[in-house]
Amino acid sequence: MSLAKILVIGGAGYIGSHVTKALLAEGFAVTVYDNLSTGQSCNLFDKTAFIAGDILDAAKLNEVMAQGFDAVVHLAAKKAVGESMENPQLYARNNINGSINIFNAMIDNNVKNVVFSSTAAAYGTPQYLPLDEKHPLNPLSFYGFTKIEIERVMDWYSRIKDFHYIALRYFNAVGYAADGTIRGKEKNSQNLLPIVMDVICGRREKMQIFGNDYDTPDGTCLRDYVHVEDLARAHVAAIKKLLKDSQSYIINLSTGKGTSVLEMIDAVERVTGRKVNYEFAPRRAGDPAVIVAGNELAQKLLGWTPQYTDIDKIVKTTWNLEEK
Ligand code: UDP
Repeated sequence: MSLAKILVIGGAGYIGSHVTKALLAEGFAVTVYDNLSTGQSCNLFDKTAFIAGDILDAAKLNEVMAQGFDAVVHLAAKKAVGESMENPQLYARNNINGSINIFNAMIDNNVKNVVFSSTAAAYGTPQYLPLDEKHPLNPLSFYGFTKIEIERVMDWYSRIKDFHYIALRYFNAVGYAADGTIRGKEKNSQNLLPIVMDVICGRREKMQIFGNDYDTPDGTCLRDYVHVEDLARAHVAAIKKLLKDSQSYIINLSTGKGTSVLEMIDAVERVTGRKVNYEFAPRRAGDPAVIVAGNELAQKLLGWTPQYTDIDKIVKTTWNLEEK
């Protein structure tokens, strides 16, 4: 098992580099395939083979897959919710067509297992809390729609072909490797913690909190923040599960705990000793008050529970990278 060969597509990116690190730590042989559009070469490890390639290049994927892999981790995607509503063609092409290219190359070369990076954006506004995997799918963005479509393609392929998948629906990914080995900070992130860091570090004068009149304890939105190293461990567990029992699953990766925007800002102020310059602004369209999910299925199937439960510790891992 420990010598299994894994192809990590999107392995130079934010989550992909952490997944690669976790796989190497467990003795897997890793090849990274990435077009370096948002991934960064400083995120590549000496111990991995690297192939510069695009998921829209079906011929190249076919050539690479012919090397033979025990499993693929597919994390290559466009992921900006706003952009997906302005340019859905880009998201259809890149996310949906690109994924189909990957799965077809797998089937044509007898590569049977894939771990797919999916998203909590699949659910849309929660109809009940905490969310679970059975919750109806009502994505509020074209981005969320692309991920569900890809899950459906995998589902059909798994019914028809010798093809097995685990789709991991991430909640809000945050933080960086605590040991500082991943140096490529995600560029132009529009997510909450990177924006707070931009303000703290003077790259942005002020930030806005989108809404302080929600029905939550402090009026700001609650989200389920999962540390990227916890996410990475779940990918390793998913690969082991696929290699062991060849069954397909869709699994949430969440902590079950909600943190408000103001609590995140407070944590940053505690950890950094600096003040965050913010103002309250109107609600952002499509933002539910609370998104929190249990992780019973991840516990049951993958033996996974998040190790980072303290928001200050999570923030600290991001601050360590900023300080460098
Ligand atoms: N948020 C905010 N100001 C910002 C960015 C985000 O108040 O500049 C809030 C946003 O409304 C949400 C939370 O922070 O309640 C997390 O937003 P993010 O975009 O990081 O992730 P999402 O939950 O939308 O996927």
